[in-house]
Amino acid sequence: MVKVLVTGAAGQVGRELIKLAPAGLEVVGYNSSELDITNAQQVQQMVVEQAPAFIINAAAYTAVDKAEGDAICAYAVNEAGVQNLAQAALILNIPVFHISTDYVFDGTSTAPYKETDPVSPTGVYGASKLAGEQALANSGVKHIILRTSWVFGAEGNNFVKTMLRLGKERDTLGVVADQYGCPTSAASIAKVLWQLAQKYTAEGELLWGIYHFSNSPATTWHGFACEIFKQAVEIGVLDRAPVVNAIKTSDYPTPAKRPAWSVMDGSALENLLGSNVASWQQELSAVLERL
Ligand code: NDP
Repeated sequence: MVKVLVTGAAGQVGRELIKLAPAGLEVVGYNSSELDITNAQQVQQMVVEQAPAFIINAAAYTAVDKAEGDAICAYAVNEAGVQNLAQAALILNIPVFHISTDYVFDGTSTAPYKETDPVSPTGVYGASKLAGEQALANSGVKHIILRTSWVFGAEGNNFVKTMLRLGKERDTLGVVADQYGCPTSAASIAKVLWQLAQKYTAEGELLWGIYHFSNSPATTWHGFACEIFKQAVEIGVLDRAPVVNAIKTSDYPTPAKRPAWSVMDGSALENLLGSNVASWQQELSAVLERL
């Protein structure tokens, strides 16, 4: 049976990867205490011992604001950690499937970002993720880099969970309405990674490189929040929806600057897989059912 090693298995995407693993693949998943990707020796030992057919890296330092004052740790995981996985993969000559972010862009565009568009991160998190992409690309290992955005799911901390909590506590809240992006469920990211992995397993090759993937269509955090409350009331997760006021980014200062435009063009991946992406509204409904 084809064996797959998954890192960061306790994260939002990691958990979905384990849950949605296709039949016929043997998946070994490790959380951060079982396999710390910043530890080169441990990574090499584990990869060589397990001898998987490929690695999926769902581990990352994802605390965007904290990263501004914690660059050493952010780079240790998001750059050096990826490099460690790439070095270990090279020993066995196996591919690495990696996840990256819309934060590699500065958000000044007004058209959906293509894979070939120039990158220019505005904060430590985005810069550390870009450094990880480059480490993987320069390692010589076969790789997929799946850039995604605005991840939500039933597990872990995310915008949906925060809105549901605030919706219970407050009658009114202000949500940013001048940042545009595509919410993406952790489950749909896991599914697309497994689709790519199965294509590789079946065909023995893949069109390696960077791909953009998110659910559709584009919205704002305000639009996303309104839909969360609408659906939550419909299915009885909340008794009533709070009033959601549209605010500006400047009304909600954060340590890390957020891109105003995070929309990515996913057509290259759709063409590769011959499938259309799900809407985030549908994915949200599945997540709320699970909560
Ligand atoms: P999570 O923060 O939910 O999961 C990341 C996991 O990585 C955590 O379980 C964490 O474990 C683990 N981890 C951290 N450091 C290490 C380490 N040194 N060794 C091994 N594991 C480690 O993130 P998501 O699932 O949301 O993110 C998955 C991917 O998607 C990441 O690459 C992220 O950059 C990318 N992404 C995420 C977005 C989002 O909105 N969340 C948006 C765009 C891209 P522990 O908690 O124990 O530290």
